[in-house]
Amino acid sequence: MTTVRSAVYKLYPTRQQEDLMDLFRKAVGYVQNSLVESCKSMLDEGVVIPTTFQLGAMARDIRRKTPWMEPVPVRILTDAAQRVKLSFEAYFKKSLPTARIPKVKSDAEMNSFTYTMNDAFRFASEKDGLDPSRFIRLGKIGFVRYRGKTQIKGKMKTATVSRRFEGARPSWYISITCEMREYEFKELALDNRPKGRIGIDLGLETRVATSEGLLVSVNRELSEYEKQISKLNSRMAGLDRNSAEYVKLKARRAHIYKKIRNKRADATHKLARQLALENDVLVMEDIPVGNIIDKSYSRERRKEIRDAAWDDLRSKLEYKCADSGCELISVNPAYTSQYCSVCGAFVEKDQTVRVHVCPRCGFVADRDINAAINILNKGLGLQAGSDPKHDESELEVQSSRDSTQNRE
Ligand SMILES: [Zn+2]
Repeated sequence: MTTVRSAVYKLYPTRQQEDLMDLFRKAVGYVQNSLVESCKSMLDEGVVIPTTFQLGAMARDIRRKTPWMEPVPVRILTDAAQRVKLSFEAYFKKSLPTARIPKVKSDAEMNSFTYTMNDAFRFASEKDGLDPSRFIRLGKIGFVRYRGKTQIKGKMKTATVSRRFEGARPSWYISITCEMREYEFKELALDNRPKGRIGIDLGLETRVATSEGLLVSVNRELSEYEKQISKLNSRMAGLDRNSAEYVKLKARRAHIYKKIRNKRADATHKLARQLALENDVLVMEDIPVGNIIDKSYSRERRKEIRDAAWDDLRSKLEYKCADSGCELISVNPAYTSQYCSVCGAFVEKDQTVRVHVCPRCGFVADRDINAAINILNKGLGLQAGSDPKHDESELEVQSSRDSTQNRE
């Protein structure tokens, strides 16, 4: 069994390297936008959109006709073509409920480019006369200084360079994905032997439980806003949707939602920062398993909030961890709430049971804290217990079924 893991590092490019990264990012945006426009007009004319291969050829053609794109590696642009193909496929298949027809993006929205072939990027080696733990080689850019402690083992697959605005000037990060076999994964957990290691479980909406026994709610101060929302909702329910009063209340509600978003973003930011600074290894679930959010929101709205909160915390953690050199590991959350984190006994409980009470060893803990400890153990390759039922492949099937049920 292989596990795909990613490591994020902060890059410290020279001025010249930064100019090149900026050019690559712009070129990817330009190619993506041109291809999206071509595909859309083909759809309008009733023509089937091109294959990935054909889109790749179109991308190469655009590069040939656009002089300023000369320094850009071809593979970065063919990868952009593949992104376009994937986004149209997602739209056709409706594989995600949020899949919309791909749009032309503004320059500010174009923040990344991806190296796909192993030979286009690699860590520096002794032969280069550079320290591999400080320099990475990027195709057509050269050796770029980076910082981060995460060790990469296994086969590197892709490297995505992205720009983020965290201050007056943009910061650059690189996220490398690699495929690891199970034994490499365990070895990594053992030879790292870090000080602070923590597992986290994202429970009710934005409640976070840690393996250290901490329960943090990102939402503590939001209940006042939530009351205002439910008041507005009940007032709006009795009104004609076209009336001036309804429109006014709707605008007021949107304003409160915005306040909630800002407060939550701020709290998430602080939490991610704290977790990343205090630990060397942080383990979290790679997908959230269903949870419950305030009933005053509609079902769609609740799902939207949960997913956004999850994505937001994850992306903030990725960058904070890269900054502070904390390793971030994702694990499949299947069954993490059902097993006892101390003795490994299977203690079945549905969503309404909030406390884990182990009949075998007597361990009692908040349900989410028990799950957080299991997540940490799973991330470090140390599964609790030796239950023969504890088989990964079986668990994965079960988990996808569970999460679909919970999502409904
Ligand atoms: Zn137990």
